[in-house]
Amino acid sequence: MDVKANGGAPADADAPYLRIERVSKLFGSFVALKEVSFDIYRGEFVCFLGPSGCGKTTLLRAIAGLDLQTSGRIEQDGRDISSLPPSGRDFGIVFQSYALFPNLSVFDNVAYGLRSRGLSRAAMEARVAELLGLVGLPGEVRKYPAQLSGGQQQRIAVARALAISPGLLLLDEPLSALDARVRVRLRHEIRALQRRLGVTTIMVTHDQEEALTMADRIVVMNQGIIEQIGTPVEIYRHPATPFVADFVGTMNFLDATLVAPGRVRLGAVEVACGASDGLVPGAAVQLCFRPEDVSVRQVERSTPNVVDVTIEGLEFLGSFCRGTLKPLDGGPNEFVADFSINLVRDFDLAVGRNLSVALPADRLRIYPKS
Ligand code: ATP
Repeated sequence: MDVKANGGAPADADAPYLRIERVSKLFGSFVALKEVSFDIYRGEFVCFLGPSGCGKTTLLRAIAGLDLQTSGRIEQDGRDISSLPPSGRDFGIVFQSYALFPNLSVFDNVAYGLRSRGLSRAAMEARVAELLGLVGLPGEVRKYPAQLSGGQQQRIAVARALAISPGLLLLDEPLSALDARVRVRLRHEIRALQRRLGVTTIMVTHDQEEALTMADRIVVMNQGIIEQIGTPVEIYRHPATPFVADFVGTMNFLDATLVAPGRVRLGAVEVACGASDGLVPGAAVQLCFRPEDVSVRQVERSTPNVVDVTIEGLEFLGSFCRGTLKPLDGGPNEFVADFSINLVRDFDLAVGRNLSVALPADRLRIYPKS
């Protein structure tokens, strides 16, 4: 795909705040980033999302100047920063492991970046108090990092990163060392703080839920390239590649054959599907759809894309049930579908029961079978 395409960028955006142009990074002969290009706009919250080793931290470090790219250009607010050291750039950063100075108090940690700015003691105290208020920890100035929980330490790390009012806030997996509840709470707090301050922010994460809930736009990376850039809804609803479809959310991948433009054969049934541009009839394809897109209510013989199935498994997942469905035509394609608790009750769904489901055409995507 065209990685320059800035999927989902604000329509009324001014000039990009951060421009990444054909950035590559080699470690010896290993290509960690391959000609990555995209723009980020002022005030955006952008997540770099991808599996371990895809290059997201390498890209963040290049933006910070902590590890220079091998080639390519990085521009921040109209200024070429490609070869500047970190001290010459305008950012604050938070790392995964709290990385506070253990021998310094909360006050001294937060004030660290302010010391070189020649502030009076009173101005510094006021600024530290303001920052601790912003991160919800007023009055903790005298404590030391070891006296704080993981979540509190990350809040202090965020306060420290914001102390100098940077143009860019860089977050390198800041929540992944925290337990699940704290992580969810801090997600909301960091996002609310970012909105309030309007600071352009990049967060590296391998957690899709984190990216979907926090980001204005997500950059999905894989093996040093960008697979897709888009808003969370675009990424989830219109994954550009099978990798994105598989990596973000749960997706059924079923073997099918294209029989005509927009129509595929799935076992013994033929179904209408989304666009099949560039594919010729007879092509082997993968038909993809989300478990929550399988319809059960108001399915009749005349409903488009009906598939008769047996319920092979039904897993209770708290707020919904996930069914494993096997088409009755005996084809090889099993798939999963999510049923609300009400639906399970209303239709008396149980393992071994037969059922007619519909696969809504506008929710079906096809990709060439590789
Ligand atoms: P993770 O989520 O595991 O941190 P990541 O997407 O952030 O993964 P990177 O840390 O950017 O991945 O690494 C990308 C690739 O570059 C990996 O294969 C990694 O092994 C390699 N790499 C990173 N730093 C170096 C280095 N200093 N020397 C050699 N290879 C490196």
